[in-house]
Amino acid sequence: MQTDPLQVRKKSICSVPIQDFVRRVEDFHGAAAPGVVLGGYMVDLAYRHLPATSSLFDALSETRTCLPDAIQLLTPCTIGNGWLRVLDLGRFALSLYDKYSGDGIRVFLDPAKLDTFMKIKTWFFKLRPKQEQDLDVLLGEIHTAASQVCGVMPVRLKPGFLARRHRGGFRICPGCRESYPAADGDSCLACSGETPYR
Ligand code: ZN
Repeated sequence: MQTDPLQVRKKSICSVPIQDFVRRVEDFHGAAAPGVVLGGYMVDLAYRHLPATSSLFDALSETRTCLPDAIQLLTPCTIGNGWLRVLDLGRFALSLYDKYSGDGIRVFLDPAKLDTFMKIKTWFFKLRPKQEQDLDVLLGEIHTAASQVCGVMPVRLKPGFLARRHRGGFRICPGCRESYPAADGDSCLACSGETPYR
């Protein structure tokens, strides 16, 4: 499928002109990664389906890959402020949902819609080695397809997922002398065996 550069220039994602968004992706992610660019169209689609009354929403990414960066670039939700959570289910999908009611919109990459977008299909399913794929052609097809390769559905988050973890105070760990949530037990999780360091 051919890309019409004029059509691409006119596009915007969450009110951000597409070229500006791609530049932000390059700065933040290190490269114009196809997954983050496609993720931008997915965030935009979710936004457009959110009820107008829902102003305070949280975000959920169902994969660690690419989508968290698209969400952080286009919404107020970041990992650090706690409004974005990553649940690594391995699905290329995200949700924006009301942080109180849990009602929201889930957007996912729909494999059934990829047959007319073979570059995206080849990239997504890794049907060819990366070096055999033309990145510019792939990005062009992503801009052409935009949200056409996505499915969208209403969702309601489970109450347990919405509940905030209350840490109930901190104490000093007898092992490392650093502070940790008292609810974690007699020592911090690192000293209890979960340290990633040798
Ligand atoms: Zn410790």
